[in-house]
Amino acid sequence: MLSEQCLSLFALEKVMQLFHALQVHVHFRPSRFPEVVFLTKRERLLDLAEQMRNVQVEWLEQGEAYIRKMLFLYELEELLSVSGESGNEHHIRSVVYEKLEPYVDHITIDRYGNLLAQKTYKSGNGPTILLNAHLDTVESFAPGRTIVKQGAIWSSSEGILGADDRAGVAVLLEIAKWLEASSFNGTVKFVFTVEEECGLVGASKLSEYFLWGVDAAIVVDRRGTGDIVTSCGTTQPFCDIRYGQFFEQVAYDAGLTGWKCTAGGSSDTRIWAQHGIQSVNLSVGYECEHTDDETLDIDACYGTVRLVQAVLHQWRDFSRMLRDVRRVDRNDLSYVGRNDLRRVDRKVVKVEHF
Ligand SMILES: [Zn+2]
Repeated sequence: MLSEQCLSLFALEKVMQLFHALQVHVHFRPSRFPEVVFLTKRERLLDLAEQMRNVQVEWLEQGEAYIRKMLFLYELEELLSVSGESGNEHHIRSVVYEKLEPYVDHITIDRYGNLLAQKTYKSGNGPTILLNAHLDTVESFAPGRTIVKQGAIWSSSEGILGADDRAGVAVLLEIAKWLEASSFNGTVKFVFTVEEECGLVGASKLSEYFLWGVDAAIVVDRRGTGDIVTSCGTTQPFCDIRYGQFFEQVAYDAGLTGWKCTAGGSSDTRIWAQHGIQSVNLSVGYECEHTDDETLDIDACYGTVRLVQAVLHQWRDFSRMLRDVRRVDRNDLSYVGRNDLRRVDRKVVKVEHF
């Protein structure tokens, strides 16, 4: 039989594991009346309490990684319960705003309805990365619909599921939480666009100021699993191929299988690439989007979280790779259109200041 002290130590270990899973820094002060000190912003405590309410006792037995994934899926389901078709994103936007606010330095909604946020981590010496997903779905959710779960595959009882692109939104929110306690050094700009589904409207209108200083973009809005989209068809490259290959390599090194560079379709990625920003669009697990047969592979979706984490974890190599890409012979501009020459020049000038 466990002594009372052993039991409480065991319980304490579980509690600490839970705090790690919640991605919050805590400091334990052992004494006769042990204290747990939260090393976090006061604004996060409410969010933390709400997340803890969702934790089920049996999750605690499964360990930290499991709890983390379960919390992610809980939030994903919440995002799938808020309707918001193109042009009618205000409700989902305010939900995302509230969830993101405790984890960023600045947050705002631009005049077109895009939700923008920014945070600098550590000294901020590393890269500035744009993370993007779109808020709108192609149509509204059927009233009263339910999420049908068959193993790892989710679908809607009626109408579209809306994982395009709520799955991407969920991935970005998870990354925002994870970044705080990670080793990442640099700046992240979060862009949740509106009206992507009716012609990339929100992204096209986004003020160029917000893109100043962005070294690279990661978009999370691609169907299927394992695609690192590096161009729109054969007509518009999104990046230097070394940028795409970096994701392949990081995935391989992290033991995440199946990630490969490929051509893809239209997405906000096109807009960032037009601004001369190295960009990729990553698979996030949905299939048959825009139809009643839409499904989401939640394991694939969570796999995308892990890939973005692995990439950001390698921020030093990421910076090095971007510097190499920028040092590309100025005559070798095969990956950008002629209209982007001015921007390429600006980047080359920037390299000289390193
Ligand atoms: Zn989409």
